[in-house]
Amino acid sequence: VPPPRRAQPADQRSVRSHNLALALSEVAGAVSPVSRADIATATGMTRATASSLVEALLAARMVTELAPRIGPQGGRPATGLTLSGDGPAALGLEVNVDYIAACVLDLTGTVKHREVAELAERDRTPAASAEALGRLAGRATAAAGRADLRVAGAALAVPGLVDADGILRLAPNLDWRDVDIRGLVVRQPALADLPLAVDNEANLAALAELSVAPQDGSFLHVSGEIGIGAGIIVDGALYRGRHGWSGELGHVSVDPSGPECSCGSRGCLEQYAGQDAILRAARRQPARGTSAGGDGALARLVQEAREGDAQVLEALARASVALGVAVSTALNLLDLDHVVLGGIYAPLYPWMAPEVERQIRRRVLSSQWKPPTVRRSALGADAAVVGAARSVLQRVLADPGAYLP
Ligand SMILES: [Zn+2]
Repeated sequence: VPPPRRAQPADQRSVRSHNLALALSEVAGAVSPVSRADIATATGMTRATASSLVEALLAARMVTELAPRIGPQGGRPATGLTLSGDGPAALGLEVNVDYIAACVLDLTGTVKHREVAELAERDRTPAASAEALGRLAGRATAAAGRADLRVAGAALAVPGLVDADGILRLAPNLDWRDVDIRGLVVRQPALADLPLAVDNEANLAALAELSVAPQDGSFLHVSGEIGIGAGIIVDGALYRGRHGWSGELGHVSVDPSGPECSCGSRGCLEQYAGQDAILRAARRQPARGTSAGGDGALARLVQEAREGDAQVLEALARASVALGVAVSTALNLLDLDHVVLGGIYAPLYPWMAPEVERQIRRRVLSSQWKPPTVRRSALGADAAVVGAARSVLQRVLADPGAYLP
């Protein structure tokens, strides 16, 4: 006998929230459209409960109905349900060393809007970057509105250590320290009233990769930019470490007496395999606005590698050895058998992966029995900003009750 309604309102609400999430996850996880009856069967709810939850999800435009279909046994046609592409949406934002980016994803994960802008030298202060991000976010939410989408939340990818309160403790390549980046960004008019999460770019890029190419659910995702970050995915979840600061592969030392790094240490991986380090070694001008912009120094580097330019090939070989050494250290510690190369390493993959693989075979103890694979990221340079938006979608799917209009 259920308790009287008045007695436990909070419990009833939480049961309904839980059941809403369960019903939505049945729709989201299905390979083909599911019916109300399918949801009832899969979750053990009554048909009436499943139908009432589906009505709420339809009203919130989180799911949508397809035309009725007749099952293989004939009988009454069932209405298929899928995630809706015109309900709640997610805003992904990114601030990086030389660019800012924004994107909007609908609940199905389709990118509906994307914009990347170069971050001018004078805008590389926290306050100016936040204002520039605010302008980008304004254009993104306007585009979402035109597409009949309602932005439900936002997440910001940053190139540094973030703590649980959204304070960016250290971003060496931006020379930012103890910046309340969350506080600065939520103050922008375009982001007023939107829940905003802040996370490390490499973590978010790894989560984005997990959603498009799961690689058995466990892998090391390495993002090369001017800095280098890694995302450690174990059994389908991000391993964040004690404070959320794991994955600083760029500051793993490959030579204790090597060149000085922006972090204050010496011989860090990013001094050998970061974008600027590669360009310097190839005696090219480290140029800005390239990591996500697509033009400029990185594209030229790829072209020159293709043409067999000796200086460029030598710089890439040197970077690949350093990357292979650092990745091997991580694999020896973590016991992972897939490595995904993302960021600048995706276009540079043909010239870097073979040497990274060679170093792994030589240095990872277990590779004699189970050699780890090295793959190219399925995503382009916008993995972090797309990952940011995907992290918002995950929150909506995990607790749709909190995002009902
Ligand atoms: Zn360093």
